[in-house]
Amino acid sequence: MERGRSPEVIKRMADLLRAGAAMLSERCPACGLPLFRLRSGEIVCPVHGRVYIVRDESEASRVTVRGVLEELERFVAHRLSDVVRRAGAAPGSSVADELRSWLDVLERVERILGMISASAGEEGSGGSEKPPARKQSG
Ligand SMILES: [Zn+2]
Repeated sequence: MERGRSPEVIKRMADLLRAGAAMLSERCPACGLPLFRLRSGEIVCPVHGRVYIVRDESEASRVTVRGVLEELERFVAHRLSDVVRRAGAAPGSSVADELRSWLDVLERVERILGMISASAGEEGSGGSEKPPARKQSG
């Protein structure tokens, strides 16, 4: 079985977040993607739909979730710059709502990333620090 994450999966995750689902630090036992809790309380995987949650405290699972989150972060950043560009082209349109919902997604992703690295303790070598926030001006 292939383990690649398609852009479509990332998009689906973003959609779940925008719909108000909460991203969990638990992962899908089948594909390793982060799980989401819908407003109804249901736990779903972006790929497999409804799953049963498993408590797996292994380091490896955190690493996997982190990779996905970072990918999602990039995806959202892309969308944001897209929206900003469109706002420049058509001022006065309703981009504010869109911006807000993407920023909302980004905030959640960041929070969970923070949770993951906090619980992972020391970071060892590598030191992939977060780059300083770039200002979007256009
Ligand atoms: Zn899955």
